[in-house]
Amino acid sequence: MSEGPNHGSGTKIRDRLQVPDSNVFLPYTRIHGRRPGPTLLVTAGIHGGEYPGIEAAIRFAQALDPGRLRGTVNVVHMTNPPAFFAKSQYFTPEDGKNLNRVFPGRVDGSLSERIAHSVMSLAKESDYWVDLHGGDIHEALTPFLIYSDQGGPLVVERSRAMAEAYGIRYILESSSIAGSTYATSAQVGVPAILAEAGGVGQLSEDAVQIHLDGLENVLRLLDLVSDPLPRVETKPIFRKFVWTHASTQGLFYPLVQVGQEVHHGDLAGRLQNEYGDLIQEIVAPQSGVVLFVVTSLAIVDGDPLLAVASE
Ligand SMILES: [Zn+2]
Repeated sequence: MSEGPNHGSGTKIRDRLQVPDSNVFLPYTRIHGRRPGPTLLVTAGIHGGEYPGIEAAIRFAQALDPGRLRGTVNVVHMTNPPAFFAKSQYFTPEDGKNLNRVFPGRVDGSLSERIAHSVMSLAKESDYWVDLHGGDIHEALTPFLIYSDQGGPLVVERSRAMAEAYGIRYILESSSIAGSTYATSAQVGVPAILAEAGGVGQLSEDAVQIHLDGLENVLRLLDLVSDPLPRVETKPIFRKFVWTHASTQGLFYPLVQVGQEVHHGDLAGRLQNEYGDLIQEIVAPQSGVVLFVVTSLAIVDGDPLLAVASE
């Protein structure tokens, strides 16, 4: 379906990507520029409760003028509609899987795996991929970016350049979470970043703006538009990202804030039982900066609690 008058000789098409063997459709916008150039994929809402990324993708697709574009931009506004409308944290309701752990997916797999498979068809025709996230419904975070250290020096270098241009302070070069967008993308030779801003189930305008500014900077970096890239500050690259998980069910009382510097072994939270007795002291797993903290009082065995990044 065409969106109406074309800008210049470029086009903007709204379409829906059907997930095989399901009634799930992923809304996306395909924007063709006036001149040839690279193809950028933008995805949002892999996790249904991460609202600023979804809102940023919608506004970015609406606002991007094909007349100023060189190349093609594909924007998937909402990659996991079942999780979004179920208000489901972390998991796709139909199969209980974390969509960002099942890439590249399978055409004959469970719903999450089939969604991943559909998105990979767009990724494989792309030169670059930006995947928008934030803290989930019970997750506070300070904005950060991840890219993979896999895929060879050129893919790593281009991914790092996108991360540095995005404008977020904390950047992680990760040995990669298996099945994640950015890791799978790097493995197929497509430079990628995963950008995190906002959290705790809020549609924060500040977080939306962080993503919109970041996406504009990526367009400039990749010469998809001819406007100059603002000067990029050199930032430290974090390479150690250590998560702490609960080893038992309980009530979680965090004692650290996102963005806070901690030392290895510092008391970072308490897990208590329903009577208020201490079950487990949660300590900082390494020295560094706290990037996310789970805000849910209710915790089950294996839940993530917080993560600390360092160089
Ligand atoms: Zn996410």
